[in-house]
Amino acid sequence: MSEPHELLSKVLERVNRYLVENSDSNTRVVQCHPPEALKAKIDLSIPEQGVTVDRFLALIETYLTYSVRTGHKQFFNQLFAGFNLPGLIGELLISLTNTSIATYEIAPIATLIEQELIHTLNSLIGFTQGEGTFVTGGSNANLVAMMCARNKMLPEAKHQGIQSNPLTVFVSDQAHYSFLKAANVLGIGLNRVIKVETDDQGRIIPQALENAIAKSYASGEIPFFVAATAGTTVLGAFDPLIEMAQIAQKYNLWFHIDGAWGGAAILSDRVRHLLSGSELADSFTWDAHKLMGVPFVCSALLLRQPGMLTQTVSNADTDYLFHDHADAAYDLGIMSLQCGRKADALKLWLAWQYYGKRGYEQRINHLLEMTRYATKKVDECLELELVAPVQFLNVCFRYVSTDAPDLDQFNLELRDRLVKSGKSLVNYALINGKIALRLILANPEIAPTDLDQFFENILEVGREPKSFT
Ligand SMILES: *Cc1c(COP(=O)(O)O)cnc(C)c1O
Repeated sequence: MSEPHELLSKVLERVNRYLVENSDSNTRVVQCHPPEALKAKIDLSIPEQGVTVDRFLALIETYLTYSVRTGHKQFFNQLFAGFNLPGLIGELLISLTNTSIATYEIAPIATLIEQELIHTLNSLIGFTQGEGTFVTGGSNANLVAMMCARNKMLPEAKHQGIQSNPLTVFVSDQAHYSFLKAANVLGIGLNRVIKVETDDQGRIIPQALENAIAKSYASGEIPFFVAATAGTTVLGAFDPLIEMAQIAQKYNLWFHIDGAWGGAAILSDRVRHLLSGSELADSFTWDAHKLMGVPFVCSALLLRQPGMLTQTVSNADTDYLFHDHADAAYDLGIMSLQCGRKADALKLWLAWQYYGKRGYEQRINHLLEMTRYATKKVDECLELELVAPVQFLNVCFRYVSTDAPDLDQFNLELRDRLVKSGKSLVNYALINGKIALRLILANPEIAPTDLDQFFENILEVGREPKSFT
């Protein structure tokens, strides 16, 4: 191997070229290969001796070649997209200084940065006294929120488990699957996650929630946790937070808001109203790696009441790590389920410094404009139709102008061909029994021309004479 700085500068040079390629219209967003075919193309085995520099660079090349370009302007597949330069720099610095944000002693500035961000996020949500921690993702935030709620309802659960207490959780039928996982982990059980009916826009029906809670009490269960979703994964729906908070309060239940996708709407004056009532929640899930564009993973759990988090997750036998000392309040590890923990907060902090509050607001407002543009394109195109009303940054539509007997099958095949072409990547979902393409506007760098190109790609594949079923 050559000198480390030589190798590093070669790699950084390649990183720069990768970014240039991302904005080149000739670059494919993905090179599609089934797993077996991909395995046959590359040698992943670990060698006896370390490889040469050239081989090392070739391996990096291979990795880049067969990775999906989520920073490409035709990537609309997930609830994250785009490239965030300060986030990349943050990621690099996190590894460069490689520490665990468990104690102040080994992560002094990272600790202060995380605390500052928890404070900033809490202020946005309206948690004036709040606390919180960075976690490994929205799923984990939902889990820890449910765990705090469980221990509040059943204080003995921490030491004795939930025993035979039939605890019940209430979420909408559009909620993220991570609530099921959380119920599994916490000993509550999948069957005790009650999925409450939603209206035609995918928002929980408050009366249905109240009925479900009453029914649960009547059958001897112990309701303890109500979760609203702010921005559902398929439709981008926002549950009615104030009504749900009132119901939770009436029955003395924990009220959580899963804002993994739509939480960042609070950064924009145009859509902040969707989160009215956020200050009434007990806890809030915030994913900076979605709408804020920070590279994976960057996610926080926020809580209104200080103390609950430490009380819930801390336990004995940690004296070797968390010593008694004057600044012990700065040892954040005591609030986390993790022991070793990356300083993910740095990425968000650098990105927020780089763009500023104003910049983030403009980025979200731009995405709202792009959503309007995409919706208009679907409306004006005879071959396309919306499958659901557009509420946020999710545009669910399908191709209709065809003699195909089965439109669901047709749209699945259309998407499949689009992905294989490598020209655009968009996901699909089942909405009220119809297969829809789910266009997600998450990359603030996209322009109307990128959407023109996207719909052109869709129409081109849809019009192909090849025999669709
Ligand atoms: C993405 C998402 C999650 C899961 O978050 P991860 O960071 O992927 O673990 C949870 N809830 C909603 C509404 C989401 O969109």
